[in-house]
Order: sequence, then structure tokens, then C-alpha cells
Amino acid sequence: MNNYNDLSSKEKRIAERRRNVIIFSVCVLALLFLGLGIWGIRNHNQKKEEAKRAKLEETSWEGAPSLDVQLLTVNDYSRPGIPLEEIKGIAIHYTANPGATAQQNRDYFENLKDSQITQASSHFVIGLEGEIIQCIPSSEISYATNARNVDTLSIECCHPDETGEFTQATYDSVMELTAWLCRRFGLTADDMIRHYDVTGKNCPKYFVENPEAWEQLKEDVHTRMEEEAQ
Ligand SMILES: [Zn+2]
Repeated sequence: MNNYNDLSSKEKRIAERRRNVIIFSVCVLALLFLGLGIWGIRNHNQKKEEAKRAKLEETSWEGAPSLDVQLLTVNDYSRPGIPLEEIKGIAIHYTANPGATAQQNRDYFENLKDSQITQASSHFVIGLEGEIIQCIPSSEISYATNARNVDTLSIECCHPDETGEFTQATYDSVMELTAWLCRRFGLTADDMIRHYDVTGKNCPKYFVENPEAWEQLKEDVHTRMEEEAQ
């Protein structure tokens, strides 16, 4: 029978080393499982959170104009995933690329996660045919309106030429969507702003250069809201 005390010092050293190896292996395995466990829980919670948000987004949009929801991937360049705590206004923009479609503008925002050339996005993009693509949930900020990113929803509008004037279909959709958003978030047409009103940028060009057209759009949103209320 081999008692530990009976072993030669060389055998003791071997036995000790073996024990250390076993303890080390157990520790490494334990850390590995712990790490995997934490990662699994975080992953699970994140997925749950995303599902909850998507569900909320889906159910609370009843009565909205028809939206093509194509949310951007969360990334630092176009959808930072930062909560939008309060909504105090609706910011109107023009895309500044004549003839480009809503889909092309949405895809440009999505691709910024790879190209990383700038930070830009919008909650909604309205196309030349009046189609509306939603890129960012209304519960998160977009990168559109500088200092007012923190408390506004943003709408980018496509336009056929350099004047920046909207097609009738785009105009009708921006009016519909803005009226609906104002009602949903307890705002009035006076809470509409142009990008120009925040930074002085010539955006949306046509409505900066033609202030009476901007007043008319606000008036039309107001009228649309009254119609909806009836
Ligand atoms: Zn703008």
C-alpha cells in the first residue's frame, strides 16, 4: 500500500505537480463555463429586449400610414441604439441627392456601419412615390438633426431635382406621416421644424428658400390632424 508519507521526495514532487495541474485545469474549466454562462445570459436578455421593442413598435403603429419597416443594424454610425427619452418635435429634411430612391437612402445609412465615412440616419425616409421606409424605432435617436437629435423624430424626403421640391406623392406622405406622429406623441404642427431651424443648413432646401411653402406644409399638417380627430 502506498501512503503519501512513504513516498520518496521525487514521487512527492510528481504527485504535487499532478495535483497542481488538476487544480489549474479545474479552475480554467470553471472560468470558461462561467464566461460562457454570462455570455449566454447577456445574449438571451439582449434578444428578449429586442423582441420586446419590436413587438411594441409593431402594435403601437396601428392607424399609421403604411410603413415599410427596415430597421438598420445597431451601429455607431447610423443607429446608435440610444434611447429617445422625449419627443418634442418632428424634423423635416431633404436628402440632397436628386432622383435617389427611399431604398437607396436607407441602404446608404445601413452601409455606414461598414464604410464609417460619417454619422447619418433618419427615423423615416419618404420616397418619390410617397413610399415610407422606417429605419429607426421611435424609441431611439437618429443622427439627423444635430442638437435636436435628442428630442425629435426625423423624416428625410427624396426629391426629383436640384430645386429640392417634393413630388406630390412625397408631399402627401410627409403630411400624413407628420400629422399621425404629432397626434401619437401629443404634438402640434407648430412642433415641426426644418433642419435649417437648428443649424442654419439649407435643408430642406425648397422649404428654406420658400418660407411660404413651409408655412403651407405646417398648415396642411394642422388641417390633416383636425380631419383625423373627427
Ligand atoms: Zn437635413
